[in-house]
Amino acid sequence: MIDPAELGTASRVLSVKYAERQVQRSEVFHEYSSYGLPDATLDMDYNFWVITDSDGITLLDTGYDVAARDWLGEIPVTSTPDCLALLGIEPSDVTRVITSHFHYDHIGYLGLFTEAEVVSGGAEHDYWFGKRAEGALEGEFTTEADLAVVERARDEGRLRLVRDAERVSDAIAARPVGGHCPGELLVAVRTEGRPLLLASDAAHFYEQLEHEWPFFAFTDLGEMRRALSLINELAERFAATVIPGHDARTRQRFPALTGPAGAIAVVLA
Ligand SMILES: [Zn+2]
Repeated sequence: MIDPAELGTASRVLSVKYAERQVQRSEVFHEYSSYGLPDATLDMDYNFWVITDSDGITLLDTGYDVAARDWLGEIPVTSTPDCLALLGIEPSDVTRVITSHFHYDHIGYLGLFTEAEVVSGGAEHDYWFGKRAEGALEGEFTTEADLAVVERARDEGRLRLVRDAERVSDAIAARPVGGHCPGELLVAVRTEGRPLLLASDAAHFYEQLEHEWPFFAFTDLGEMRRALSLINELAERFAATVIPGHDARTRQRFPALTGPAGAIAVVLA
């Protein structure tokens, strides 16, 4: 990963919640029973992130239309379009969208951003378009409709594929870590304070960082374990704060945005 100290500084980083669900530790952590710990409920948030720097507004992920799909019993809180309206952001204001990976809950609303540059993992692109070519998307968390939006961005010359660590915007760098999905991206942001490592689904919950516990859903378990240890190593090297992708406790660790958008957004920086 590029050292965040080499980047420009983001003026604001928000975590925005659009849906929620309650899960059991035993459901979400791979082989949880092998740890010999009691089961417990976890509050799972569904988020996207809004980063503002001198290159404009970057979204990390986009959420999805929960009411239209409702695949795992997610409870809609505020739809992505309504979140953006509360934040005073028009889709056309968004300069770029980084997709952490192509699962529906991360790219479902990508089609809103018809002008934005789309930054995705190269391995992610190759994996899912390969599956589509084989007619093997049945039962996957990535759909034909989601991929059609990525394809449109590609046809329009707006798709940028990340295959190694690279700077994607003034204050933002990304690198593929794989594991959960083949081209899962880890995103680093320089801020006024500690740099941020936005893990998205490379680490869903804080426990995964504390204990390097894999999540139950992965395309490569070894790669997921290496990704978790890499995130911890980078956090130490850069004195960075790691934000897991789906943990509701993030909202207790950071202040709510002032005004009505405080119901959905916390200020990470
Ligand atoms: Zn997810």
